[in-house]
Amino acid sequence: MPRPNSVYASLPVTVFERMSRLARDHHAVNLGQGFPDDPGPEPIRRRAAEAVLDGWNQYPPMMGLAELRSAAAAHYGRWQSLTLDPESDVMVTSGATEAIAAALFALVEPGDEVVLFEPIYDAYLPLLRRAGATPRFVKLNPPEWRLDEAAIRAALGPRTKAVLFNNPLNPSGTVFGRDDLETLARALAGTDAALISDEVWEHVVFDGREHVSALAVPGLAERTVKIGSAGKMFCMTGWKVGLVCAPAELLAVVAKAHQFLTFTTPPNLQAAVAFGLDTQDDWIRAMRARLATKRDRFSTSLREAGFAPLPSGGTYFVNVDLAPLGVSDDAAFCERLVRKAGVAAIPVSAFYADDHVRTVVRFCFAKEDETLDEAARRLKAFMARTIPA
Ligand code: GLN
Repeated sequence: MPRPNSVYASLPVTVFERMSRLARDHHAVNLGQGFPDDPGPEPIRRRAAEAVLDGWNQYPPMMGLAELRSAAAAHYGRWQSLTLDPESDVMVTSGATEAIAAALFALVEPGDEVVLFEPIYDAYLPLLRRAGATPRFVKLNPPEWRLDEAAIRAALGPRTKAVLFNNPLNPSGTVFGRDDLETLARALAGTDAALISDEVWEHVVFDGREHVSALAVPGLAERTVKIGSAGKMFCMTGWKVGLVCAPAELLAVVAKAHQFLTFTTPPNLQAAVAFGLDTQDDWIRAMRARLATKRDRFSTSLREAGFAPLPSGGTYFVNVDLAPLGVSDDAAFCERLVRKAGVAAIPVSAFYADDHVRTVVRFCFAKEDETLDEAARRLKAFMARTIPA
């Protein structure tokens, strides 16, 4: 019997897959795995279809189509005041998860330490363990999930090679602003740690917030590998087109890892994303407004059902804290919710290596209003007939 790698052999299937499967099995409304009902901008999808029929279907350049790298540089210049040279500072990957893998494999080696902020996205830990690094955790706590300079400093050490940061933060919906990024910059001053900045939710921010990229902050910019996602920008999560921006010397090494992970990304999708980055600013603004309205609609329903929703400034997610209801096991609660209420959600303990937070549950509100209302009806009925704990 072959003996597979222990990092992967010991892993369960992801919480998102598991909850989506349970949702199917129990005919539940699936507010677990984060994907929107919105089909994405029609002109972008049409452009992709045309590119499949009439365009180039052989290997595109390893770094990405020139037109996409230029469009990304211009887009980030317009939206985030970044100055990027498309030739040396921008690379296309097959999704953000591939970009995170490439960044970790390029930057860390066995024995290094990587600092992570819990709640952490589920891909981070296995990837960095596979790269041979040791995680050091900074715990963020509900309801504010704010960064604390002393806590960051405490996690740093002589072997810290990289810090992996997610802003806006999945699952909490926290949008870290310039002040928070300056806190991070102060904590990292005097170290040579790289910052892998997962900014896939950069365009999914509400209430007039504007995303501040780590690449726009002095003290972070020179150490940052910024990761974006066309799938998140345009509500097409299956497209898996990632955008990596970094200072040229850093990006060159990340590109070495990328060339032996996926090497390239379908050229037709790249062409369509280039078109989208150039032309869909208004669509992005409208998407923000639409999603904020859904967040409010569903948060009101959650309150009516007896839950305590936490603030959500971005992402597709709103969380509820179950502590006031006396619930102390979010995973067991989600199991009961999918079976008995017919609504799938994600237990936030899955985002902590040690279940540090066990009373928070995440709902995805990026769904049709009827779907949200049906979920609300089921949640109200469940809460009316059950003692949640
Ligand atoms: N990003 C999605 C979420 O947070 C999950 C993606 C996946 O299932 N791998 O829900």
